[in-house]
Amino acid sequence: TTHRLNNSELTRQLHRYEETGQGDSFSILRYLKDDIPALVVAVLLAGGVAYFNTLIPLALGNLTTALNSLNSFSHGSFLNTIRHPALQLLKYYCLHSVGTALYISVLSGIGERFASRVRLALFRSLVFRDAAFYDTHKVGELINRLTGDVQEVKSSLKQIISLGIRNTVQFTGSCISLYTISPSLTALLCCSAVFLTSLGSLLGSLLRSASRHAQDQVAVSTSIAEEVLGNLTTVKSFAMEEEEVAKYGNSLEAAAAAYSRLGLGIGLFTAGSALATNGMVLQTLFYGGYLLSSGQVGAGDLMAFLASSQIVQRSLQNMSLLISQVVKGTTAAARVMQYLDENTGRSPGEVILSPVGDISFRGVSFSYPSRPEVAVLENFNLDIRPGQTVALCGASGAGKTTVGALLERFYDPKEGSILFDEKSISELDTKWLRGSCLGYIGQEPVLFATTIKENIRYGVPRASDAEIEEVARAANAHNFISEFPEGYDTMVGERGTTLSGGQKQRIAIARALLKNPSVLILDEATSALDASSEKVVSEALQKLCTDRTVIVIAHRLSTVRDADCIVVLNKGKIEEKGTHGDLMAMEGAYFHLVRNQTDVSEGRAGT
Ligand code: ADP
Ligand code: MG
Repeated sequence: TTHRLNNSELTRQLHRYEETGQGDSFSILRYLKDDIPALVVAVLLAGGVAYFNTLIPLALGNLTTALNSLNSFSHGSFLNTIRHPALQLLKYYCLHSVGTALYISVLSGIGERFASRVRLALFRSLVFRDAAFYDTHKVGELINRLTGDVQEVKSSLKQIISLGIRNTVQFTGSCISLYTISPSLTALLCCSAVFLTSLGSLLGSLLRSASRHAQDQVAVSTSIAEEVLGNLTTVKSFAMEEEEVAKYGNSLEAAAAAYSRLGLGIGLFTAGSALATNGMVLQTLFYGGYLLSSGQVGAGDLMAFLASSQIVQRSLQNMSLLISQVVKGTTAAARVMQYLDENTGRSPGEVILSPVGDISFRGVSFSYPSRPEVAVLENFNLDIRPGQTVALCGASGAGKTTVGALLERFYDPKEGSILFDEKSISELDTKWLRGSCLGYIGQEPVLFATTIKENIRYGVPRASDAEIEEVARAANAHNFISEFPEGYDTMVGERGTTLSGGQKQRIAIARALLKNPSVLILDEATSALDASSEKVVSEALQKLCTDRTVIVIAHRLSTVRDADCIVVLNKGKIEEKGTHGDLMAMEGAYFHLVRNQTDVSEGRAGT
């Protein structure tokens, strides 16, 4: 169920994305702390490079003066005359190059270490967030912050240090050179530079809005393609292919037109700035030539002036690029910092017991933080003694899975308390509670893209191969695993063997069994399976259930008949509670559920 974004909606979304960062951008700099010495080195090197860059025009000027003096004097002393200025120029060239190589390598080291520190901190902060956070955030967007945004911050940081320092030093140095060479030429240059720069920035902002418009057009056509290809069956079943192709074609035309206009603008702008730069050279030569002819400056000075003014111009250009980079970088940093909070989540609790498996829900009321107005559980009370099996049943959406999620402390109840072995679970160490007391098997087992063995070992990294085989046997999984050519080393999932639902579920059972939890939550663990795999998996589950407290959530009631207590949930409230016999005798909700289901299955068997 997607819907097409129209143009204004899309632009709004794009802008919202731009605005989402709310973190403090500059506090990201604390991840540079460990690199301060390297940073100082990089700054000094960049400053040095810039310093030599401002000396080069002056050395060029000296060489020109020497060459100029050659013409009017003897030819014999050529080498003698130019040796000193030429060697000086060579020295500056070499120092400039060596410095450049050094500062770039130091800086990229700083950048990479910074990026990995930020990524690790952000990843840690995301991994430790609680379930409520992920109810309201898209994983794709978070991944984007982890990759693209960190990358953006890193490159901005590098640019600010390298371009920022170099261009500031070069700009200042070259301006001083210009002024010392000829104040009047400098004044002329300033006037035309100010005029051209303001003209340029005006045209630049026009170009930027044209570019945004073109990008929006492309986004529109992309969203059309995405929607059509994603819902191709529906498009085909209405025979709308031609219409969609035409629609896509129109959007492409609009995008192409926008980009052509942008291209024309960029072309004219580039040509115009080249003309302006060259014009300024000509202007300097013209007025400088006049000063030369009237003996106010020498040829060497004019050469040095021209070269320095080129540096000033390039520095200005780079600094304007730098400003947009700073904007991009701080926005990206804000987006990264928004989720980079080092103490996330609730207090984890500290108490560790030797688990027995006694559970009490006392007057628990709950609504999901993302939908606080909907009461999911209301005054839920349930006592489960060690070793008992309690079944939760009721319609879909009644709140059964929520009971399990609260016991695992994925969320905290709004009212009431949940006790595990007579301690409130909020006081218990969550790592211990989830890691070794509770085992959860859901409807859709999640396996990782690694070997079967590592999947079973997940959660108990120190388990031996023998222990893994033992739990796999208990979970009825050993037989099918050993039939694979690579046995326990078979890769699962992507680029590995695709397992059937029943096989995956048995691996998940083995994984839970290895943890040997004192409480087991089975949330419709067999409901996604076909009849024959349901049978094997149920057998495996039965073995898993002995000697533990079990909460079994089921909509197929045949599986809960033997439970010590059956709870019927209806819209978050307990409707009935008792054994199968009690509830059947009452002829209430449970009785009707059972009767409906047997009718349905008999009806199905009949057809
Ligand atoms: P059941 O397992 O009995 O089918 P659940 O416990 O999954 O029901 O859901 C109970 C209610 O809570 C439903 O109305 C469902 O829409 C809502 N709900 C479940 N998970 C979330 C969530 N993560 N965020 C918001 N509401 C949820
Ligand atoms: Mg459920």
